[in-house]
Amino acid sequence: MELLQQKIIDEGVVYPGKVLKVGSFLNHQIDVPFMSTLAQEFYRLYQGETVTKILTVETSGIAVAYPVAERFGVPLLFGKKSKSANLADNCYRASVVSYTHGNTYEVIIEKQFLKESDRVLLIDDFLANGCALEGLIALCEQAGAKIVGAGIVIEKAFQEGGGKIRGRGIRVESLARIADMDEKEGISFL
Ligand code: 5GP
Repeated sequence: MELLQQKIIDEGVVYPGKVLKVGSFLNHQIDVPFMSTLAQEFYRLYQGETVTKILTVETSGIAVAYPVAERFGVPLLFGKKSKSANLADNCYRASVVSYTHGNTYEVIIEKQFLKESDRVLLIDDFLANGCALEGLIALCEQAGAKIVGAGIVIEKAFQEGGGKIRGRGIRVESLARIADMDEKEGISFL
């Protein structure tokens, strides 16, 4: 998506450790009309599928998942991050290693909100090593819900996540795929 690539070039800042900050439109301040444009593109890609639920993980995933859910006319469910092991048996939970924070957290959803009959579209802001998506996939597997695919705003294609998730036979659609990035050289796209 050219518009997104241009926005990343214009507004993105590359930090050491190959972390891209897009705080001006996605990760801090949110460009709401632009989120709707991204959602329209996810809708175009997945409109041939039956989708009953959008699943993301808090916090940044929610901003883009919200208009996607609105477009499909289905609920948006987000995994809650918890630092302490939650032992309540009314929840599905999965462990996720955080790329940006370097710690491990649990992602939790209540069982009542995800059912075997659900057909789930996973949405997230970034795909790096694939840990966040794997957590969401694990939650769907626990519920017996079918995964229709994943929609990612920015895939860091030089990291292993895309290959790992696609290798599991899951459709992954990324609106921008970064081939490489560097504080000095800038950002190049696939
Ligand atoms: P993964 O779990 O695929 O390694 O990383 C994806 C998650 O880490 C996303 O949910 C996102 O919040 C965060 N993340 C990974 N890389 C970046 C990055 O370069 N910039 C930002 N802002 N978040 C990232």
